[in-house]
Parts: sequence; structure tokens; C-alpha cells
Amino acid sequence: MSASARAALHDVLVLGAGSVGLATALMLARQGLDVRVIDRRPPQPWLPPPGFDTRVYALNPAVRRRLQALGVWDALDAQRIGVIAAMEVHGDAGGRLHFGDGRQPLAHVVEGGALQTALVAALDARGGRGWWRAGEPAGVRIDAQAAWLDCAAAGTPGARLLVGADGARSWLRQALGWPEQVRDYQRQGVVANFRCARPHGKVARQWFCAGEVIALLPLGGNHVSLVWSAHDALAGTLVAGAPGDCARALAGRIGEPLGALEEISAPQAFPLRLVRVPRISDARVALVGDAAHGVHPLAGQGLNLGLADAACLADVLAARGDGPDPGDAALLRRYARQRAEPTFAMQSVTDGLHRLFDAPGPLARLLRNRGLDLVDRISLLKTLLAAGAAGQDPDLSSNA
Ligand SMILES: Cc1cc2nc3c(=O)[nH]c(=O)nc-3n(C[C@H](O)[C@H](O)[C@H](O)COP(=O)(O)OP(=O)(O)OC[C@H]3O[C@@H](n4cnc5c(N)ncnc54)[C@H](O)[C@@H]3O)c2cc1C
Repeated sequence: MSASARAALHDVLVLGAGSVGLATALMLARQGLDVRVIDRRPPQPWLPPPGFDTRVYALNPAVRRRLQALGVWDALDAQRIGVIAAMEVHGDAGGRLHFGDGRQPLAHVVEGGALQTALVAALDARGGRGWWRAGEPAGVRIDAQAAWLDCAAAGTPGARLLVGADGARSWLRQALGWPEQVRDYQRQGVVANFRCARPHGKVARQWFCAGEVIALLPLGGNHVSLVWSAHDALAGTLVAGAPGDCARALAGRIGEPLGALEEISAPQAFPLRLVRVPRISDARVALVGDAAHGVHPLAGQGLNLGLADAACLADVLAARGDGPDPGDAALLRRYARQRAEPTFAMQSVTDGLHRLFDAPGPLARLLRNRGLDLVDRISLLKTLLAAGAAGQDPDLSSNA
């Protein structure tokens, strides 16, 4: 190894400065590790738009607590955070499911730009922008000491642990030749924000209709965020439409439960894919976030899973004490083992629900709507489902 290469050796390199990569970097830096984050795009200054960021995320209580412990949650503007106190799910033939007693929030809805800005500020607060490198690697090399990224003009930084947080089409996953099983849902997630004429009452509403899933999440004030898993062709029409077209198309599907909707941010669409990644760690490398799994957004869980990956990796590394170095294969296998079950469970539930409501024919429709009604009447099952979505162990005491 050359002297210059040795000089560029860090404890941890995180490839990808999305929310998951930034959170991973922050958690590991707080353990005293020397961490660098590499992304092709520098962190963009984000100013709160008048109509809310188009990308918003429903974050569960477990993730909120973790962000609170990092000092990131309290840096968010509380006025702009939506609270989900209850949830209504509507089937496509009268079936209905209701969660939440309004006492404990089921989730909070946070703007993507606000979360990233708060994470960047927390990293900067540790001593400036030294944690950041602009770069897009062309190659990766792993030897006994470190993993090295070939970033052309940005040099060849190396680290004892390389964390792949480079999103759904992860370059790192592909460069390492790690297998992936991909199913294209042939749907796009269309997102847009609206002002609603009637109060949303802090209720998240979801409809399964004609193989599509539509959700309206409560934002601050009388505002809601739409997530519409629409067939590819419809998604294209919604995104290309004039202001007002999306609200009209929505009213055609679900009526106007919140009165007239006024568009406050233009619709954007994101392709939806199930991505199963059987291997997420090896000596010196671990994957987190969408690089490690793709899930259907019907349960709003992709970022929750990714931030739980970050927390799990940080906990596993913290528990090693003075033990092995952070790129040790057995240590990283422990991380991968701990993440396998929650990831598999979430992918199975969301994919199963998608398939259930995609199945054509009157019998399938009857069974799934009866199923929703049945679950609605069994409080134990509802507790288990709600706790799973909340990222926590269920408290079953009230169901005894
Ligand atoms: C419609 C929709 C709604 C959703 N709603 C929710 C929700 O309510 N709640 C929830 O929990 N989740 C939700 N999700 C899922 C959520 O959006 C993702 O799980 C999350 O954004 C993934 O974050 P990430 O940091 O892993 O990846 P990304 O945000 O994709 O970040 C990847 C980063 O890596 C960088 N990068 C990529 N390749 C390279 C390269 N080769 N070199 C350098 N840099 C690179 C990119 O520039 C980017 O900064 C939703 C998803 C969709 C599509």
C-alpha cells in the first residue's frame, strides 16, 4: 500500500448521502469513529417551500426516538410535522379497517428535505464539512486491511468498513456482484401535496382500488400528502397533467372525503419495485437502506427500515467495545442476521397486500374485503399489525 493510500484510510466510508447514509454516518461518528460520506451530489441547502416538500415520510415511533437521541428530531420545525393519530383502510368493496385510539401517535409525517438538512447540520456541528467528499466511484477493491473506492479526481479513499447507502439501484451492490431479486410492480408512486377543505383530523386514509393503492397522509394544518401507487400509464398522465387534474382524477377514484383538494405541489412519480438482496454484508462491507431492500410503499416503511438498519449497524459496532475492527466479517454478519427477519417480514406483508388487492374477480374481492372487516373486529390482530408498522414489540396487556 502506498503512503498516500495509507493517509486516506478512514474507519468508515459511507457511499450515499441520502437520509439513511447520513444517519449511519452520524451514529458512527458519535461513537468516535473517523467517518467520511461520499456522494455524487453535495448536500443541497434546503429552504422550506410554502407548499411542503413533495417527498414526505411517515416515520414510526421507534425511528422518532432514535432521531431524538441524535438531537435531529428536535431540530425539525414542529409546525411542519404531520401527526398520524389514527388510520383508516378502505377495501375495494366496502371492507374497512381502523387503527389507533388517538392517544398515542402511530407515526409522524416529516419532509424529506427537512430531515436531510437536520442530519447534515448535526454532522457539520461535529467540526465542519470535513466528513463530506464529492465523488462517484468507478471501482471498488477489497483487501485484508480495507475497502478502497476508486473515485477518479476525488482520489482513492479507503476504510476499514465501507457502508453502501447508495439507494435502490445500488452501484456498490452491483460492483460487488451481489445477487438481487427484483420484481417491477409496473406501478409508480405518484406523490403530491394538497390543501383540503375539511380537517383531516390527524387520520391517515388509505384506499385499495382496482389494483392501485391511494393514501392521504396528514401534514401540518389543513394539508395532506398523496401517495398513489398508480399503473405506469396513469402515473405518466398524472405527472404531465395541468394543476387540478390530479385532484380531479383522485376525486374520480375515492370521492372527496376531505372536501375539495387544492394542489400545492406538483405531482412527481417514482418507480415501484420489490428488491430482495440475500447478502447485505461481507468482510469490510455492509449495505443499508434501499441498497439493502426495496419495499412497496403502501405501508410507508422503506425509510423506517433503512433507518432501523443504520441503528442496528451502529448498535452492533458499539457492542464490540475494544474488540474486532469495524469491518470484521463476523461482526457484520451479526448485523445482517439481525436485519434479515424484519426486512423479510415487511417485504412479505407489503408484497402480499399488493398481490391480494391486485387479484381480479368477484370472489377475490369478496374475500379480501371480508378479511379487512374480520381483522377490524379482532383487537389482538390489530395490535400486532399496528405494532409491526410502529417498529416496536406489541404491548398485548390491553388484549388480555
Ligand atoms: C412514493 C414513495 C413513498 C414513500 N413513502 C415512504 C414513507 O412514508 N415512509 C418511509 O419510511 N419510506 C417511504 N418510502 C421509501 C423511501 O423513500 C426510501 O426507502 C428512502 O428514501 C431510501 O433512502 P436511502 O438513503 O436508502 O436512499 P436514497 O434516498 O435513494 O439515497 C441514495 C444516495 O446515494 C447517492 N448515490 C447513488 N448512487 C451513487 C453513486 N454511484 N455514487 C455516489 N453517490 C451515489 C444518491 O445521490 C443519493 O444521495 C417511499 C418511497 C416511495 C417511492
